[in-house]
This record gives sequence, C-alpha cells and structure tokens, in this order.
Amino acid sequence: MTFGDGLPPLRAVMTEFGLDPRKALGQNFLLDLNLTGKIARQAGPLAGHRVVEIGPGPGGLTRALLANGAEHVVVVEKDTRCLGALEAIGRHYPGRLTIVSGDALKTDVADYGDGRPLKIVANLPYNIGTQLLLDWIAAPVWPPVWSDLTLMFQREVAERIVAEPGSNAYGRLGVLCGWRCRARMLFDVPPDAFTPPPKVTSSVVRIEPRPDPIAVSLTSLERVTAAAFGQRRKMLRQSLKPLGGEALLERAEIDPTRRAETLSVAEFCALAARL
Ligand code: SAM
Repeated sequence: MTFGDGLPPLRAVMTEFGLDPRKALGQNFLLDLNLTGKIARQAGPLAGHRVVEIGPGPGGLTRALLANGAEHVVVVEKDTRCLGALEAIGRHYPGRLTIVSGDALKTDVADYGDGRPLKIVANLPYNIGTQLLLDWIAAPVWPPVWSDLTLMFQREVAERIVAEPGSNAYGRLGVLCGWRCRARMLFDVPPDAFTPPPKVTSSVVRIEPRPDPIAVSLTSLERVTAAAFGQRRKMLRQSLKPLGGEALLERAEIDPTRRAETLSVAEFCALAARL
C-alpha cells in the first residue's frame, strides 16, 4: 500500500466495526487513501490548522487530514457504529482528534473553534450537503469562523454552487454563495471511487469567504432569489410580482423584461436592498 499511516486498510476497518453502508445516512465511503489524501491537500497546508470534518464514517478522510499534518481535527458523525473506528484513529494520533457524536445539522461549527479560523473539509452526505453549506454561508458574523471549505458534492450541486449568470446551473444557490464567497470547482470523483458507488459523479469544490460582501439582509436576498428563480423562464416583472414587480425593479434600475438567470449577484443584492 502506498499510504503508510500504520493503521489497517479501510476495508478491514469496515469489517471489524460492522460498517455496512446505509443509504439513509448518505454513506458512500472513500476507501482509497491516496484519493482522500488528494482531497485533504486541497485544503492547503494543514500544519498549525484546526480542521472540522463532517461525516467521517470509517475515517478515510480523517486519516488523510491527520497524516497531512492537521494540528487538530474535530469530526462530527451521526452514525454511532463509526465511533470505534474513529477512536482507534484518535489513539494513533494522541491529542489530535476530537470525536463529536451527533447530527451536524444540530451543531454549530463555531463551537469547535479555538479562536483561530477553522478549515472545514468533508465528503458530505448528499441529503444534507446543501443545507449545511447554506447554514455556513448564513453565519451571523462575517467573516465567519471558517477560513475555507473543501467539500465534496454531487457534481450537479457543485455546478450550481460555482455557477455564473447566464448558465443553466445559475440559481438561488449560486447567488447566495456568490454573494458572500468565492467558489471554484477542483476535480471530479467518479462513482467507482466510492463504496458503494453512487449513481452520479461527485466533485470537490473549494469555497472561501469574501472579506467584504455587499451589505444586504440574507432574508431579503433569499426572498428575491426564491421568487425570481421559482419562475425562471418568466420575465422578472412577472416572477417578482408578489414582491412589488415593476416598481421594485424600477427602484433597483433593472429592466423588468429581463429573466432571473441574467442578473448578476450585485443586481440581486440591489433588489434585496430595495424590498
Ligand atoms: N468521510 C467518509 C468518507 O469520505 O468515506 C464518509 C462520507 S459519507 C458520504 C457521509 C458520512 O456522513 C457518513 O459517515 C454518515 O454517517 C455521515 N452523516 C450522515 N448524516 C449526518 C449528519 N446529519 N450529521 C453528521 N454526520 C452525518
């Protein structure tokens, strides 16, 4: 094996702890430690950094983060069957791993910091990935407690996150992400890299907070994008009717015959500011 952290291969770990993957928990595990190493390295130099990983499962990415020098890793895992495997990793890297047993949707990453910016790295469960990202983008304090996110999503979701105006993938997620962050696509991971293989290709995305996003209320931005993209083929004067229609568009100096997908993030912010 090219990856020598001295811990057993992940397949043996799955057998030892009875970790048969469960669909309801979005369990598509990465067992190739070269691949988890590649993902970990996308988070930048890890030495001296505290990293939060959501959904470590049997710990393939966790091991890569620690082997690549992360000072401390906090993992949040909902499936208690994984705890034994994670504790073994903790014993191998004494004092460098904190295991949180629970639902990531009910926890706040700010609780895992030590005052320095956190890195968040995760192969996210498909069913909650978008919600977690939106929660992190909606942080009440900006810049947030995290300095960067290195995340795996279904490719289709990754495309929506990095989408530019004018593209089919551009929508609410792209506007909200583009408002507060810069996001870029890193690389694809084919289905056969996972156990079991999902039906779709996955992609790793890197997201960094903008230091000074346009000052606007998140609630207003969400209302405008939901209305505009809810009827994306219609002209804005029609889709935004419930929010003021032509009068709102006039205040924001936006042509009412345009369609949602042509508006820049700054134009959506202008509309949100005039709601
Ligand atoms: N990081 C591992 C890897 O790359 O092989 C596992 C990734 S797997 C796609 C998603 C993981 O998230 C699973 O271990 C699953 O149990 C966990 N998970 C699912 N829902 C969760 C939740 N609400 N909170 C925390 N972990 C969750």
